[in-house]
Amino acid sequence: MAETEEKTGPPVTLIDPIDMSQLDPKFREEISSMPNGEELSACFACSTCTAACPIANQWNFKPHQLIRMMLLGMRAEVLSSKEIWECLTCFECQERCPQKVRVTDIFFDCKNLAAEEGIVPENILALARSLIEKGQLYEVINDWEREDLNLEPEVPGLSTEELKSILKGTRTGKLVGGDE
Ligand code: SF4
Ligand code: SF4
Repeated sequence: MAETEEKTGPPVTLIDPIDMSQLDPKFREEISSMPNGEELSACFACSTCTAACPIANQWNFKPHQLIRMMLLGMRAEVLSSKEIWECLTCFECQERCPQKVRVTDIFFDCKNLAAEEGIVPENILALARSLIEKGQLYEVINDWEREDLNLEPEVPGLSTEELKSILKGTRTGKLVGGDE
């Protein structure tokens, strides 16, 4: 019989008891009233979304817990959670939800709400700055890789000026000060 592999990875994190006095009962309605939130209340906590999620085992709050937290009104915890930003947007959870809860899209809505309140992780802000300042999320800096592929050293015809001016007027631009 094969030996059982030793499990590695983060320890299981137990969530502190919920402080009922801190709940925001309007949060459930806030999410439900958005176009993606129509089915939020239909969640019956089956955890199928978490079972399908390729990254949930790295998260303190799993997808089904985040949905439950929304239903309970844990606005501050959800909007300040790192998990909504680490979501891979693979839609595995949403595709499999038997109740048609738009889990991935709801996480997008939560990111928008968090961003409106200025709660954005520094690594995401750095990407936004790169987009505003350089017109690209990722710069092509390894010219040798292009050379190996017999490509021109620089990406041809890449003009970022118009893109940059458009982005400066967006909410992302405002978020990182690119509209100043
Ligand atoms: S799969 Fe759907 S119904 Fe099940 S816990 Fe996740 S969101 Fe709720
Ligand atoms: S979309 Fe996000 S939450 Fe859903 S399964 Fe993929 S990584 Fe997990």
